[in-house]
Amino acid sequence: MPSSPVPSSPATPTSPATAGSLQVSGVGKSFDGVTPVLSGIDLVANSGETVALLGPSGCGKTTLLRIIAGLESADTGQVILGDRCVSGPGVMIAPEQRQIGMVFQDWALFPHLSVARNVGFGLPRGERKESSRIDEALALVGLTGFGDRSPSTLSGGQQQRVALARAIAPRPAILLLDEPFSNLDASLRVQVRTEIHQLLLRLGMTTVFVTHDQDEAFVLGDKVAVLYEGNLLQVGPPAELYQRPATRWLAGFVGDANFIPGHAHHNSVQTAFGELALHHPTEGPVEVLIRPEDLEIELADSEATTDVLATVELVEYLGHGTAYLVRQTQADQSPAGQSPAGQLRVRRPSLPILERSELARLRYIGGPVVAFPL
Ligand code: ATP
Repeated sequence: MPSSPVPSSPATPTSPATAGSLQVSGVGKSFDGVTPVLSGIDLVANSGETVALLGPSGCGKTTLLRIIAGLESADTGQVILGDRCVSGPGVMIAPEQRQIGMVFQDWALFPHLSVARNVGFGLPRGERKESSRIDEALALVGLTGFGDRSPSTLSGGQQQRVALARAIAPRPAILLLDEPFSNLDASLRVQVRTEIHQLLLRLGMTTVFVTHDQDEAFVLGDKVAVLYEGNLLQVGPPAELYQRPATRWLAGFVGDANFIPGHAHHNSVQTAFGELALHHPTEGPVEVLIRPEDLEIELADSEATTDVLATVELVEYLGHGTAYLVRQTQADQSPAGQSPAGQLRVRRPSLPILERSELARLRYIGGPVVAFPL
């Protein structure tokens, strides 16, 4: 069943949210008292901001979300919501007293209750069956008129919006979402993601959501916090993470990455593509991050050139562009050689202009580069 679109502007109700800020400082957690699952996490979500917690499976993102929600206690550090410490030394405020709205991975809807009763579940007893807050929340998620339906008669996208309506009905200060799209078919995910994006903007509510999907984190997050093995590697706007990743691992985690050898001196680095400007001054042998879209590719008419030459190994037509996998004909043999040696990914926003086995000429057309010392 297709999910009905969320209206792009509120019908009548205004936002029920009281936007609040979140500050996490020095949060650490170990379940067995030995292995840290989270170490010294510092994170701020400003009022009205959407923050994505991004990381591979097992990195600790759900644990951090549960600590913010009060479903788990931290061993060290503090969680401050608005101007109130809700978790810290000697302090552990119960989840229901934190003014938090939470949407779980599986949405946790009650199948035997109507949509309206599900949405009213978090409200004070007297308001659970009938309340303007239920109607308001359903209107905000574009489900006016669905109150009497059973959750099982709704599409995946609609069920997710019921879960969201339930989370926002009590007018929380902050919304927490755990892998909000993992329960949806791949075909629905992009559509629902856009709907939720519009909804979050309309709500203006401080939101923290967990995902292992870089696309989701980048599309929805004003800020993305990347966790790796319990450590926060970098927090920043998506473009900053993509263009200036803090580590080599993160560079590859947030997008396709080529790494080529180079030798850095002050603000520039010598590479096969010539001397490139550096984002940060570095010295000595390095690996240089080159994004596939920062390489221009064209047919090489002769080998008598100082340009980087490469043989086309694969051409992948993507509809909105073309990806090429090429192998340099004379890859740098220095220890920093990329892996597998000499192979590069190129992405152009155009139809295929080259075929497999053809000889290509590559040129770097991006801005200042990031280099990781060896
Ligand atoms: P995923 O994307 O797979 O859900 P995640 O990044 O959300 O992963 P967490 O669920 O926070 O990771 O788990 C981090 C680590 O803590 C994992 O090694 C996990 O097995 C462990 N862990 C989580 N909860 C508990 C628990 N209640 N008791 C013991 N270990 C736990």
